Amino acid sequence: MVSDPAALRVYETDGLASERQMPLTVVFPREADEVVATVRACFEDEVAFVARGSGTSLSGGSVPPPGGVVIALNRMNRILRLDPDEQRAVVEPGVVNAHLSQAAAPYGLYYAPDPSSQVICTLGGNVAFNSGGAHCLKYGMTSNHVLGLRVVLPDGTVERLGGSSLEVPGPDLVGLFVGSEGLMGVAVEITVRLLPKPEAVRTLLAAYGSLQQAGEAVAAVVESGLLPAAMEIMDRLAIEAAEAAVHANYPKGAGALLIVELDGPRDEVESDFVRLHELIRRSGATEVRVASDDAERLKIWKGRKGAFSAVGRLSPAYLVQDGVVPRTRLGEALCEIEQLAAAAGLRVANVFHAGDGNLHPLILYDGRRHGERERAEELAAAILRVCIRQGGSITGEHGVGLEKRQFLGEMFAEDDLRAMARLRREMDPLGIANRGKMFPPGFEEAGEAGRALLPSAAAG
Ligand SMILES: Cc1cc2nc3c(=O)[nH]c(=O)nc-3n(C[C@H](O)[C@H](O)[C@H](O)COP(=O)(O)OP(=O)(O)OC[C@H]3O[C@@H](n4cnc5c(N)ncnc54)[C@H](O)[C@@H]3O)c2cc1C
Repeated sequence: MVSDPAALRVYETDGLASERQMPLTVVFPREADEVVATVRACFEDEVAFVARGSGTSLSGGSVPPPGGVVIALNRMNRILRLDPDEQRAVVEPGVVNAHLSQAAAPYGLYYAPDPSSQVICTLGGNVAFNSGGAHCLKYGMTSNHVLGLRVVLPDGTVERLGGSSLEVPGPDLVGLFVGSEGLMGVAVEITVRLLPKPEAVRTLLAAYGSLQQAGEAVAAVVESGLLPAAMEIMDRLAIEAAEAAVHANYPKGAGALLIVELDGPRDEVESDFVRLHELIRRSGATEVRVASDDAERLKIWKGRKGAFSAVGRLSPAYLVQDGVVPRTRLGEALCEIEQLAAAAGLRVANVFHAGDGNLHPLILYDGRRHGERERAEELAAAILRVCIRQGGSITGEHGVGLEKRQFLGEMFAEDDLRAMARLRREMDPLGIANRGKMFPPGFEEAGEAGRALLPSAAAG
């Protein structure tokens, strides 16, 4: 347990550095029983708490509630069971995503969901945010890989949800917990499925003059019936940043890059790759490169996975936005983002999971210039409204957290929000688990009365 103000400061924020709140204290459990004792004490004293993994949330999800306790789970980082025959693993919540795949590798297995933060983020954080990654286009999000959970509910009781098989009788309580952003308790044990490593992988990198052409190539691949494991796009600014940081040797002067990866049984991958290569060659690409070995493939991915942090080289600060549009409207959305950025006088770098329409505009700003941060926030809000208008979502994988809670009422009807709040109150009558996140300001705290605080633009 930590109470020294200097040490507490480390936990007052997460990956969204603009939101800060000093915690009351931070506890570092090593065992599930210690989590239970902490949550029970919080319940008895009506003190709010937040579960925290590595604090890489970009939406302020792991910022402490005012006067709240941080339950830091990084020391609960044991892989409790790895069963190669059943292709299952049981892990503690503080296990780092990439460490699970490393541990499974000797058995020819891996854990599929691969956030770009996978070398640092934890499985507990992945569960709470239903995290995704480049390969979720083919393999699905975290929710498709979690079979069972042991959770400490907000009153300190312990429940098992799901099991270790793909189907369990009764309602899908794992589905309810995954993506609930720490508002329904703390996951202390997670059962996941592991997949056999694909027999073959082929990776292709294509350069285009413009983002639009790269977007059209994605649409052409989807229309062809091919199902790549990943399809990722980076724009000119993102390429420039990644190149300076990682020296991935990306083609010079490209307006956009498209990375497409196929994986699966060798024969199938080889024949699909011939079709893919031909399709990309005809899509207006100025250059097409094929990774000839694992080292070249990893280099291509290193540039993409390092792009977020690399953008820090271009600007003293930036906001990472996370929204979704239907895949067919990607081109339109990118055009609108470009126009909005020009009107705001700000630069936006785009790096995104194009295959599933998940956009990540990075809005560059300099907080030392008067009003620039506010303009960046207004631009971020305008981009989210583009996503809502086009039938998409305000978050693809980074959660709602603190950052986007005021938009929830623009995406969901009032009745839907009331149903969500009722569910939350059933699970957590005192509202102490990650209080103040996800629900629009005032709504959760005020219950039914909070309706008055919803934006008048609430969708019907
Ligand atoms: C450079 C960078 C790249 C990223 N790329 C991606 C990406 O490709 N895809 C993606 O989905 N995300 C991405 N993220 C966002 C983030 O890394 C993930 O969402 C990740 O899952 C968060 O894990 P964490 O351990 O850091 O969780 P934290 O930030 O500590 O917590 C996140 C949320 O989970 C809750 N939580 C944590 N542990 C538990 C638990 N055991 N039980 C209940 N609730 C818990 C917290 O209360 C909080 O609400 C990226 C972030 C960065 C900084």
